[in-house]
Amino acid sequence: MCGIISVLSFRDNISKDLISALERLEYRGYDSAGIAYFDENSNLQRIRTVGKVKLLKEVVQKFDIKSNIGIGHTRWATHGKVTEFNAHPHVADGVAIVHNGIIENYQELRNSLISEGYEFESETDTEVVAKLIASNIKSGKDFIEAFKSAISKLSGTFAIVAIYEKEPNLLLGAKKGSPMAVGLSSDKQSCYIASDAVALSTLADELAYLEEGDIVVVRKFDHLSFEIFENGKDKIEREIVPNKVSLNDVAKNGYESFMLKEISEEAMVARRTFERFKYDINLSKYDSVSIVACGTSYYAGLLSKYWIEEIAKVHVDVEIASEFRYRNPVFSKNSLYIFISQSGETIDTLCAMRLVKEAGIKTLALVNVETSSIAREADIVVKTEAGVEIGVASTKAFVAQTLSLLMMCKKDIDIEAIERSINSVLNSQYDFAKMANKLKNSKSLFYIGRGTNYPISLEGALKIKELSYISAEGYPAGEIKHGPIAIIDENVYTIALAPFDNHFEKTISNTQEILARNGKIFLITTENSRELLHGLDKHEKVDSLFLPEIYSLYQPFALTTVIHLLAYNTAKAKGYDVDKPRNLAKSVTVE
Ligand code: GLU
Repeated sequence: MCGIISVLSFRDNISKDLISALERLEYRGYDSAGIAYFDENSNLQRIRTVGKVKLLKEVVQKFDIKSNIGIGHTRWATHGKVTEFNAHPHVADGVAIVHNGIIENYQELRNSLISEGYEFESETDTEVVAKLIASNIKSGKDFIEAFKSAISKLSGTFAIVAIYEKEPNLLLGAKKGSPMAVGLSSDKQSCYIASDAVALSTLADELAYLEEGDIVVVRKFDHLSFEIFENGKDKIEREIVPNKVSLNDVAKNGYESFMLKEISEEAMVARRTFERFKYDINLSKYDSVSIVACGTSYYAGLLSKYWIEEIAKVHVDVEIASEFRYRNPVFSKNSLYIFISQSGETIDTLCAMRLVKEAGIKTLALVNVETSSIAREADIVVKTEAGVEIGVASTKAFVAQTLSLLMMCKKDIDIEAIERSINSVLNSQYDFAKMANKLKNSKSLFYIGRGTNYPISLEGALKIKELSYISAEGYPAGEIKHGPIAIIDENVYTIALAPFDNHFEKTISNTQEILARNGKIFLITTENSRELLHGLDKHEKVDSLFLPEIYSLYQPFALTTVIHLLAYNTAKAKGYDVDKPRNLAKSVTVE
């Protein structure tokens, strides 16, 4: 969450780099944005705006900024409302900082700084860091020592970058719990510290990723260089790796949104996942498998439980990371623990994984970013081949996660059949927009399904909530009569996932129960069930979508694309920004 970019350069047009990086970083937080830099007279200047980066860009363009050093931030508020006062950078006596994460002991630090005479202008946890550095400088420390000392007093998770008016040739960064990378431009004229590789695509071709506790010092003399200090103490070399994010990955390439572009890539992602899957993982050799994740990744885990138990015959538990890590779990030694995270930075999942590692148990990370913290700390890494995912609501990454999990327990996959089924949805003539227009007025929505259609229902409901802000629930179709059916009336739509499979008839009975209570149904089924519906699809309260016949093991892939297109179209019908849904951000690096 939150995007950080900073630059120290021989060029004086750094505001261009800051804004272009913030535009790419916007998916990490977009409630406000800001930059700070030193002007031609070496005075600290700051520009902040509430809302999207576009607004900041408009304001910045009004100034003729000539500066060699600057920092930028796009915020996802944790402490304090979305206001200009709370937007980053935060400043104190010539020091400016940007921060990603949460400073847990900020209240205590704030009180002690207030007793020193500091006044606070924001409600954030962040501002204490700027004041703490300034206070350390006042007490005689140089900028680097003041920064290191301030960092050592912070608890919580953070990535922080700082600049100081009297040291315009220094750029400092610190990482604990939130990602941070440093890299030089190919002509060595600029050096950047940023919160991810996406920010630095087009700016730096090679990067070093900071490890937990690292502090980075970027210096400008006759040339630019950076040094990394382990735990802020001893100098250490971190591997320099290529920045694999290309301009193509971070552009919409003609699509009106990243989400639509990413949904349209789902068949291709399935193919690539299949072709690049080179892992020899034998799940059958474990007594059990435990999967720990959050959000969409959790639902991918839940879906794989059906497959792994049926195919590999191994018991599977699936857990929400934020619950798992705080409930003193009992570990079983011959178990494989799988941690799923698109970004590989999800803090709850990372901390849950550390807990398992401490117990001496094998961990497997299923992540989309191989340089991420979770990938670096796991025993085994399986990389999902989704490519860069920018849309805040995860789509193609779910396809890569679920197919990778299937491939961990089944070697003979018919990838053509999977591709065909996804493409049948992508290329279908079905009018999703028309259906979305009906769904958008529903006061609440249910998604129901049995077997593997149940986790897909959960994911479908999550996507509707995330993007359309309609209260939506995914339910096992057989469970709806145990309570939720009380909600059903003529204003509620239920989307029934009922392709032809072993559960088909039972799910259809459950839709009848809903119709009997005046509920409306959107039935998603397959052609080979048409006869068996006995005219249900013609019922005045039923809309239906018939997919081609699909082998039941592969149905979840086609249904995934259906629920994604449905969520996309519903949000669009309501006039919402599908790439930047309210209150959300990608890569959840706070608890
Ligand atoms: N906790 C800080 C704030 O609320 C930083 C949030 C972020 O990561 O954007 O301003």
